[in-house]
Order: sequence, then C-alpha cells, then structure tokens
Amino acid sequence: MAIDGPAGAGKSTVARAAARALGFTYLDTGAMYRSVALAAARGREDAGSLDIAFDGDRVLLDGEDVTTAIRTPEISERASVVANDAAVREALVGRQRALIADGDYVAEGRDIATVVAPGAEVKVYLTAHPAERARRRAAELGIDDHESVAADLLSRDERDSGHGRTTLEPAPGAVELDTTGMSIDDVVAEIVARVEAVRA
Ligand code: C5P
Repeated sequence: MAIDGPAGAGKSTVARAAARALGFTYLDTGAMYRSVALAAARGREDAGSLDIAFDGDRVLLDGEDVTTAIRTPEISERASVVANDAAVREALVGRQRALIADGDYVAEGRDIATVVAPGAEVKVYLTAHPAERARRRAAELGIDDHESVAADLLSRDERDSGHGRTTLEPAPGAVELDTTGMSIDDVVAEIVARVEAVRA
C-alpha cells in the first residue's frame, strides 16, 4: 500500500504503525533521499553508487548507521534539493521498486501511488491543515516559532512538487485522509481497515 502527502502530515509515524499492525514491511523512501543528501553534504555526489539499506528502523549508508544524522533541518533542506535531480530519482525509484517487489509493504513518500507503485492495492493521501502540520513539526524540532516552521514547510512542499509527485494533491485513485484533529491510533485504524477490506 502507498502513503503519500506533504511534509508534517504524520506520514512516517502512521506508515510505521500501520505496517506493524498489518505485519507488512515499512519503506521510508524519504530516508533514501535524505541519505543521498547526507552523502552529498560529505562531498559524495555519486548517488547511484551509494549503498542505502534498512535494518529494522535503522537507516544504513554504506554500512554506517545514519538514522539520526539524516533528520537534521539542514539535511531536510538538502534532501528536498537533491530530490529534484532526475538522475537521483531514477536511481532511488529503481531501488524502491526492487525492494517492494518482494513481499507486502507500506511504502511512504510523495510519488508512491504515481511512480513507484501505481499498482498499489490501497493508496492514501495523508494531509492535515497547514497550521496543524507546522505545530507538529515545531514540536518535533522543539521550536516555538510556528510561523517560521510553517513558511519552511510551505516552501519545501512547493519544491517537492514535480517529477510525478503528489505532494499537494492526491494521486488518481488515492483516498484523501485529513488527519487534523485525529489521533494517530484513529488514522492507523482507518488505514488498516482499508487494507483489510481489499484483502478480504
Ligand atoms: O518524507 P521526508 O521528509 O523524509 O522526505 C525528505 C525529502 O525527500 C522530501 O522533502 C522530498 O524532497 C524528498 N522525497 C521525494 N520523494 C519521495 C520521498 C521523499 O521527493 N518519495
């Protein structure tokens, strides 16, 4: 199943929990763009030859655990820039398709329902009111100034459009789920029910 949507909509938390509930494997495609950005920040521009792997919840870049290093605001910003490089996208989309070909996945990103897995059985577009997204992201980062966080999210979402991504609107066939005011458990339950319904 595919979960797409803008920054701060709660995609990662929800996708991870839905995968656990369903017994599926979680694929965090954003972590792959972040890993390419981290490598670039360290002077490596050869995205195609990087070894990006997952070990449970850990992200490994050429064998090094980069789970925490890829979550800084600087890497978020850089990831959004490298994600506009067509060669980077081609390399990562190829790997993502190869990974999910084998087994049941909850794949999360911005182009899953359109590019990576257009044949996904269930497609969800997860969103939330911009103020809610900014509030959640500010809490995550421990920042009080919601307005600057809101402005950053907006400019990231604009840059995260194109290349078949459905950051700002649902993909054809995707169900839009506005999580504003919903608890994580309720969002996960809704997604799990949709997957179970198509599998019944
Ligand atoms: O989802 P996350 O914030 O970790 O993604 C980091 C960046 O990677 C996004 O801002 C976006 O630029 C890029 N990305 C993408 N396509 C995906 C997943 C992430 O372009 N499928």
